[in-house]
Formats: sequence, structure tokens, C-alpha cells
Amino acid sequence: MKIFDGLYGFIWNDYSENNCNTYLIDGDRKILVDPGHRHLFGHVERQLKALNLSRDDIDVVIITHGHPDHQEAWEIFGNRTRMAISIEDHELLKKLAGHYFKVPEPDFFLREGDLTIGSHHFQVLLTPGHSPGSICLYWPERKALFAGDVVFNRGIGRTDLPGGNGDLLKESIRRISTLDIEYLLTGHGPIVKGADEVQLNFRMIEDQWFDYL
Ligand SMILES: [Zn+2]
Repeated sequence: MKIFDGLYGFIWNDYSENNCNTYLIDGDRKILVDPGHRHLFGHVERQLKALNLSRDDIDVVIITHGHPDHQEAWEIFGNRTRMAISIEDHELLKKLAGHYFKVPEPDFFLREGDLTIGSHHFQVLLTPGHSPGSICLYWPERKALFAGDVVFNRGIGRTDLPGGNGDLLKESIRRISTLDIEYLLTGHGPIVKGADEVQLNFRMIEDQWFDYL
């Protein structure tokens, strides 16, 4: 689905299996946000193919957080694709993997602050709570926020998984709610479009969920 010129959303609609929404930022660099589960990556490949692209055309994969339904498929990309995740969630992945399996090393870490990839300028916001190193990627020029599992359309990310923390999630949600957002690009479910709708969504989340965090 084309969201606007230069941004595609591969929205996951099959609720019989858990997978995340994947986003493709097109332009002089091709950036994929959250490739999803490895065994469900065919869903992304089909939609890339419809755009005459393949996974080999992807320059950078950005992982919003280290849960397998967002991150796992990063293992199948070739050497020319650069991988990025926060240090905190890479540490979490390594801890959970233990001696059982090997966690790949990213090409660079996502840190709080500016991130430039080709002609695209973003801000990385460290937004812990759902996981210790969840990030949101803000694209000021397009007023778009890749929110991972921090907030959804009428919902919030779980805090009962390893390293989850309700107080931190509240703080993170308050922080992103102050941004100028036209497109709230959620990690699961429908996206939220329009500044008024996005603000309404934040207000509703605060009213309905914050007492329970
Ligand atoms: Zn998650």
C-alpha cells in the first residue's frame, strides 16, 4: 500500500499469525523498517516484487525493537544491506538467546538523535517501556512517525515481556505525543492518518490505558 510518494506500508492483515507491519522508504536509499518474522517474509517479498524490487535492493534495515515478530527476518539479508538496532535491544536479544542461538551483529546502532541515510533525515527517539531499547523513528519532513510497538491505533504495546516497564512506556508515549505527526505508522494494525486523528488517538490512549500502566 502506498502511503504517500516515497513511503509504502506492507500492512499485516492475517490475524491467524503474529507479524508486524513493514514499511519501505523509497528514494536514493531504500530503507526497510521492521522486516518481521523470517518464516513470514514472503509477505514482504511479494510486495517488494510488485514494486520491481527485491530484498537485495534494500540498503538499510531499521529495527524498532528486538522482538522476533519485528526483527527476525534481518538474518536473511545479504552483506550489502546494513542492519541497525538500538544497543539496548541488541543486548536484550543476546541475553535471551543465551547459548541457544547466535544473534547477528548489526552494522550500526540506533542512538538517540539525528540519523541521515542518503537524502533522508530522521530523528531517532529512544522510547523504552515495551522493550528496554525500543526506538521510534521520526521523519520531520513528512511528519511521519514509525512507532514500533509503543502505540497502536487505539492501543499500546505490552509491558509484560522481558525488560518491559509501564512507567517508562507512559513517559515514552507522552514524549512522542508532543511531536508534529500526520502519519502514525504503527507496528501492528491500522495506521493513523491526519494530525487531529493522531492527537485524538494519543488522548484516548492516555485516558483509557495510563491508569493501568
Ligand atoms: Zn514487540
